[in-house]
Amino acid sequence: MTNQDCIFCKIISGEIPAKLIAESEHAIAFNDIDPKQAIHVLVVPREHHGNIAELAFANPPALVDLIQLGSKVASDVSTGSFRFTFNTGSEAGQTVFHAHGHILSKTPKA
Ligand code: 5GP
Ligand code: ZN
Repeated sequence: MTNQDCIFCKIISGEIPAKLIAESEHAIAFNDIDPKQAIHVLVVPREHHGNIAELAFANPPALVDLIQLGSKVASDVSTGSFRFTFNTGSEAGQTVFHAHGHILSKTPKA
């Protein structure tokens, strides 16, 4: 399930490079190209779904896997204090219409 015009599908296929941080059965984690905080990692399901709500209904195990991957990455790279956010819809700031979570933290692990 991919979308040929989708930038995150291209990162997942390797067509566009990204700094991979971690991966799991259903998701990958890579650094945001335009970080908004000291730590800014994107957690992205391998399957193309337009937003996190669509992923939740279409493939619940993939949603759980994504949240577990993001939580592991956050505890590896931050002190454990972080935000895990899902912009959903353009008016909420979503710009890439392939489901993804943002891990944001001001406190990298020393
Ligand atoms: P949204 O605004 O949809 O919630 O988040 C999309 C995020 O994807 C933004 O924070 C943006 O900086 C990031 N982004 C957009 N294009 C690329 C890219 O080609 N590579 C990487 N690593 N991040 C990207
Ligand atoms: Zn996609």
